[in-house]
Amino acid sequence: MTFGMGVLKGMIVTLKNFVTSYFCKRNEGGIFTIQYPEEREKTAENFRNFPFLVHDGSLEKIRCVACGICERECPTKCIHVEMATDAFGKPARKPAVFDIDYGLCMNCGMCEEVCPFDSIFMDHAFEVSAAERQVNLIRHKADLAKPNSYFQKERPTLAAIIDQKRKAADEKKKAATQPATPQEPK
Ligand code: SF4
Ligand code: SF4
Repeated sequence: MTFGMGVLKGMIVTLKNFVTSYFCKRNEGGIFTIQYPEEREKTAENFRNFPFLVHDGSLEKIRCVACGICERECPTKCIHVEMATDAFGKPARKPAVFDIDYGLCMNCGMCEEVCPFDSIFMDHAFEVSAAERQVNLIRHKADLAKPNSYFQKERPTLAAIIDQKRKAADEKKKAATQPATPQEPK
């Protein structure tokens, strides 16, 4: 090869990439960077960051029944759940306290996997940095609870499957409580 040809070829590639970056779209050979935070990449549907809790309209209608399974299974032990009690001191099947320390969470998604009540799912939100992480990265029940509409927007495929499953379970429960239709005399 003629002396200097390698350098010249490299310069041509660089020049080509420089020019196309102004005329082609991102992912089509165009400029790779985006002007964050004004511009944002759409996250993949199954992208997971930190967990959130789903409610059906209000904090009172949170799906979590405080069974504590996610707390037990969480590998970093960053979930803390306490069951609420009713006026008679009996378990109320909802959390009085539900905290997650985002500073410890390793985004494994185990809590979502093990929850039998379709209550906790992994969120897309990632801008959660804070000073004093021992204090400011602890999320409480009110911070964690988000409506089902949020879940449907963030993870539509999974939310649709869960909605369908819950609807079918409700219908089954309703059918089981209906009085049996009296038989016509023969
Ligand atoms: S994602 Fe993993 S580490 Fe984070 S709270 Fe859930 S189980 Fe724990
Ligand atoms: S989020 Fe699910 S697994 Fe965790 S305590 Fe609530 S119902 Fe149980």
